[in-house]
Amino acid sequence: MNISELNKQKVQHTTLTSFKNFPMVPRVVFGRGCFNQLSEILMPKRKSTEAPFIFLVDDFFEGTDLIKRIPATFNDKIIFISAEEEPKTEQVDSLVSKIKEDYLELPSGIVGIGGGTLLDLAKAVSLLATNKGKAEDYQGWDLIKRPALYHVGIPTISGTGAEVSRTAVLLGPEKKLGLNSDFTTFDQVVLDPDLVRTVPKDQWFYTGMDCYIHCVESLQGTYLNAFSQSYGEKAFDLCKEVFLEDIPLEESEDKLVMASWHGGMSIAYSQVGVAHAMSYGLSYVLGTKHGIGNCIVFNQLEEYYPEGVRLFKQMKQKHGIELPTGLCKDLPQSDLETMAQISLSLEPLWENALGKNWRELVNQEKLISIYKKL
Ligand code: NAD
Ligand code: ZN
Repeated sequence: MNISELNKQKVQHTTLTSFKNFPMVPRVVFGRGCFNQLSEILMPKRKSTEAPFIFLVDDFFEGTDLIKRIPATFNDKIIFISAEEEPKTEQVDSLVSKIKEDYLELPSGIVGIGGGTLLDLAKAVSLLATNKGKAEDYQGWDLIKRPALYHVGIPTISGTGAEVSRTAVLLGPEKKLGLNSDFTTFDQVVLDPDLVRTVPKDQWFYTGMDCYIHCVESLQGTYLNAFSQSYGEKAFDLCKEVFLEDIPLEESEDKLVMASWHGGMSIAYSQVGVAHAMSYGLSYVLGTKHGIGNCIVFNQLEEYYPEGVRLFKQMKQKHGIELPTGLCKDLPQSDLETMAQISLSLEPLWENALGKNWRELVNQEKLISIYKKL
């Protein structure tokens, strides 16, 4: 067989099977205090003394010791950003314009320090620095054309899996959707469990439950395969240890850092499900944040995930977490319809959750009846 026949055969094979060939984080450092290695990690990546590193940092850390430990030298800049609201396409555009205005050269790289909000912002800014146009133009799958600037993610709270995923979720003028691309994934991740110590308990639970819910939705989904299952089961077991057993604090922090990573890896090769689909609708209309929104929805999903919800309630009770109630009870019908429509538009999530004939099993009315319970 000659080369061209061989290639033809390969092409036929790929079109028939079309397995995802997805990128992974090529470098990761794990360990208490490994944040201190940031200087030596970044040094070889500096393009020149003029090309800065831009550190996007959760403003919770403003004035704390962590800031003194950021290896900002030469022209580098630290920008504090509030994680009060989820990241927006406009916010990415204005950060990119500011960086381009302030510097003659493109930065050597972008470093995100914080939770999912800051990690997604860092990914998005690194992509938009090298891709023309606005962030909203790239909300979707594989729309990004050019490699991003070198970008580093340093999570300070565990659960979203944003440190390992190939998406940066943004709220745009028309939709909440990620910049999903092979260029989105971080070039380097720094996993230092010391950084999560200051997370308030409620937030620890909400973001941690994001990971737990990723596992339940992935493990009970129709897209499940051995790849996703191997990561999902590990993350699920780690979550059970962290949230249901009494283990020492440091061990619990380490384990949740790794649960987040494995949970993210699990959904990379499958999909999330009902809670995520419905929580996106909630967030679009009411601005409810991802972690708490998932918890509020998941709490009412016994019908879809009986065992997962039973354990969730046990975890919630063990840690004395009270979820807000009555969120949707006074909402006008039009808002409820928008929520349901946004949710139903996330087709792969429903297909994963309920199978190919999901449209026969769920509709706007059904979702509104669940939203009204929240
Ligand atoms: P977050 O970044 O929104 O932060 C939540 C709160 O915790 C904020 O008030 C923040 O200031 C605080 N915080 C963070 N670290 C802290 C620390 N060490 N000490 C004290 N306070 C701290 O939280 P999150 O739940 O990690 O992220 C949610 C975001 O992640 C959403 O925007 C969601 O869309 C996104 N997300 C992305 C992916 C992905 O794959 N890209 C996956 C899931 C969620
Ligand atoms: Zn999630």
